[in-house]
Order: sequence, then structure tokens, then C-alpha cells
Amino acid sequence: MSRLVVISNRVALPKQTQTGGLASAMNAALQEMGGLWFGWSGNIAAETGKELHEVEDGHIAYATIDMSKADHDDYYSGFANRALWPLFHYRADLVDYRRDHLEGYLRVNRIFAKRVAKLLKKDDVVWVHDYHLIPLAAMLRELGVENRIGFFLHTPLPAAGLLITLPRHRELLEPLASYDLVGLHTQRDLRALEDYFLHELGAAMRTGGRIRAANGRIFRAGVFPISIDTAEAVELAHRAEDSGAVGKLKASIDDRALIIGVDRLDYSKGLPERFDGFARLLRDHKDLRGRVSLLQIAPPSRSDVPEYRSLRRELERSAGHINGQYAEPDWVPIRYVNKSFGHKVLAGYFRVAKVGLVTPLRDGMNLVAKEYVACQDPQDPGVLVLSRFAGAAQELDAALLVNPSDLDEVSEALKRALEMPLKERRMRWQSMMDVLERNDITYWRNNFLHALMEPPKVKPEIY
Ligand code: UDP
Repeated sequence: MSRLVVISNRVALPKQTQTGGLASAMNAALQEMGGLWFGWSGNIAAETGKELHEVEDGHIAYATIDMSKADHDDYYSGFANRALWPLFHYRADLVDYRRDHLEGYLRVNRIFAKRVAKLLKKDDVVWVHDYHLIPLAAMLRELGVENRIGFFLHTPLPAAGLLITLPRHRELLEPLASYDLVGLHTQRDLRALEDYFLHELGAAMRTGGRIRAANGRIFRAGVFPISIDTAEAVELAHRAEDSGAVGKLKASIDDRALIIGVDRLDYSKGLPERFDGFARLLRDHKDLRGRVSLLQIAPPSRSDVPEYRSLRRELERSAGHINGQYAEPDWVPIRYVNKSFGHKVLAGYFRVAKVGLVTPLRDGMNLVAKEYVACQDPQDPGVLVLSRFAGAAQELDAALLVNPSDLDEVSEALKRALEMPLKERRMRWQSMMDVLERNDITYWRNNFLHALMEPPKVKPEIY
């Protein structure tokens, strides 16, 4: 029986409060198969990877390393979050490429590889996560590692025409061929990968999603849309109905309608456009003034990156402006909240809100969209207004799909959502719920791991 080795930038150590969907999915897989989770400890030290911190919990071993401030600045805040994140979210205008950031990124990946190589056993199956660690498999292969290695990209992968604008893009992306399986959220991301490999790197397509790289190595790429713990979300929302926090929110909205948005404060989430779309609704429909509010929860993130700080200022200005323009003594249009909430409270808020407004300009998947749906009351479900550019739109096509930059379209979708008859709401909700019941987070990780462990159908082609 193979052991699972998970490698990601951050590790969700046992008894830590932050338990995202991915963290619990990985922990469940590790608990079942037995295994190891390796990554950065979250701590800064004089030197990267000098010491290995090990913790055991049941069948799982956690191994973490500290990082030097310089490495963290170059690898994480630098190349990963100031070059890759904007590029992968189609914001070439925000890419701040610096050669020393890329060098730092490669340096940290090499340290990860060296540390992990020593911990691997012969039959281990390795699963690497996200844009921080793209070259890891290639570096492990250089160290003689022959294990099966899979990679999952949690962000979108942009079209080849955009990828090639990144200096030294081949050095970054060609190493993907060293994985056995590369997983992406949507067909669009997969097409981008195939197109890039075929037209930029001289690869050739083979059957069954296999790609033959120019160096003869064959790897597979496939679509695995990540999901949520659907049953848990349903249960949380049901129980939250009579919790204190939800009661207070309900009392404060009285008989008005609530539209909810929940996003990290990130420029990919389309928050300024969302505020403007909501303002357009109020501008065009006088009768809705005083009758509907937008609750936007937006916990700040990555505030060491300048664009995130300026976005925060922009949103403060915009919310202030819209509220100043439309508010009445007893009603505020936008309730803008810069802090984070636990899943329990959010589940209750989602259930109270008549409309879930999820309008990223680009998003790999967007789990909030799925959570909003799962948290609805089946008898009286709310309506999801969803950006076409969220990965989730591929599965949740019964939502009201919008282009987030088209303020009139967003405003019209909000109006339609607020007035939608119960029968139509139920039909749309059921159709989305069917998807979430079939493809939950457990299905997602099993599906990826089965594909990764599946024996190759043919022997690798050799020149
Ligand atoms: N989230 C949370 N508390 C908050 C805001 C967000 O727990 O105050 C959670 C949210 O419920 C979801 C995740 O953070 O599970 C965000 O995932 P998503 O895919 O929507 O966006 P990302 O932040 O990964 O870009």
C-alpha cells in the first residue's frame, strides 16, 4: 500500500484553527493512506530549511521547514505573488517580474526538493500543490526520485499568448512535464496547458490526455474541479439558523433583502466592479432603495504587496461614495466588513442572504459560490449571481451568469434574482445542488489520486 506525500507552501498542522476545505481533504487522504505533509512552517529564521520540524498525528507525519526573510520575500511575496498570481489571473498589467525574485523562487523550490527527497520511500505517491511549487518535480527527478508525482494548480492557467509574456517562461513551465499527472480546474485551463506545450514547447498530443514533451517524457493532464464538503456545509447552515450571530444579522436587515459577497480582499475578485454593479442597481431602480443591502465581507490578505493596499483604499473610497450617495438615516446600501469569519457563521449568513453575488474577474474555482449554494434552505433557496470567469461557472451553470465588467448585466441579474419566483429558484438550486452532491471534496481528491496511481496504459515512448 502506497503512502501519500503532500507538498504545499503551507502545511495545515493538527489542532490549528484554520481548517480550509483543502486542508481537511488532504488530512483525510493522509489519514486513510498514511503519509507525510511537507511545507513551510510559516516561521522566518536565519536560514531556509536548516532544521526539519516534525510532528506526528495518527497516521500522519508533518514535516516543516522555516524560511529566511530574503527567501520568503523573493519566492513568496516576490515571484509567486507579484508575478505568477497576477499573470495567472490575467492581470499582466500588475506583473512585477524581477530576476532576483525568480532566482529566489527556484532556490526555495530546490531546498524543498532536497529536503523532501531524503524523506521519500520507494512506493510513496507524491502530490504537489499550487503555483508556488511548479518546478518541484523536475528538481526531485534531478535528485533521482522516480516516484509518481502529481501536481494540482489551484489558480487558472491563462492562455499561451499571455504565458509567453513572462520572462523565462519556459524555465518555469517546461518542468511540468516531469510530473506524471497535472490537474487543472476547467477545460479552459487544460486547453491553455495543451496549447502552450504544443505550440511553445514542441510537445505532441497523445491519446487519453497524455502529452509527449519534446524530451520524450510523457505526462498526463486532466480536469479535476475542486469542491467543498457539501454535507458539512448543509449541516452547518441548518444548525446556524438559530445561532446568535445569524439572529443579529436577521434582526438588523428586518424585512429587507440581503445580497452577500465573501472574498479575500484580492484584485482578482472584482470587488470595485461589484460595488459599481450594485450602485447601478440602485441608480436604475429607485424602488429598491431602502429595500436591499449588500453585505460584503472582505478580509484583507497579502498586505505586504502594494496592489492589495491600494485596492483596499479604492474600496473604502467606493463604499463611502456609494453609501454617501444613497444611504438614508435608517438604511445603508453597502455593509463593508474587513474581517474574516468562521465557516459556521458564514454558513448562517449565506442562508439568510437572498442573493449570493460572486463576481471575480478571474478565479480558479471559487469555493464561496459552491458554499453559498450548499447553505441554502431547500424550501426557499436564494439565487447565485456568478461570474462567467470563475471556474465554478463551468459546473454551476444554473446560476445567473454574468460578465462582472458589464455593470448593466450585473444590475439586471441582481434585479432578476431579487424577483425570481420560488419555482425557478428551486429548479436552479436543485440543479446546482445535484452537481455539489456528486462532486464534493472527497470525490475530488479520490478522483485525482486514482488518476495519479492508475498504471500507465502504454510504456513511455523512447527515441
Ligand atoms: N473564508 C472564510 N472566512 C472569511 C472569508 C472566506 O472562511 O471571512 C473561506 C471561504 O468560506 C472559502 C475560502 O475562504 O472556503 C475562500 O476560497 P475561494 O476559493 O472562494 O477563494 P480564494 O480565497 O481561495 O481565492
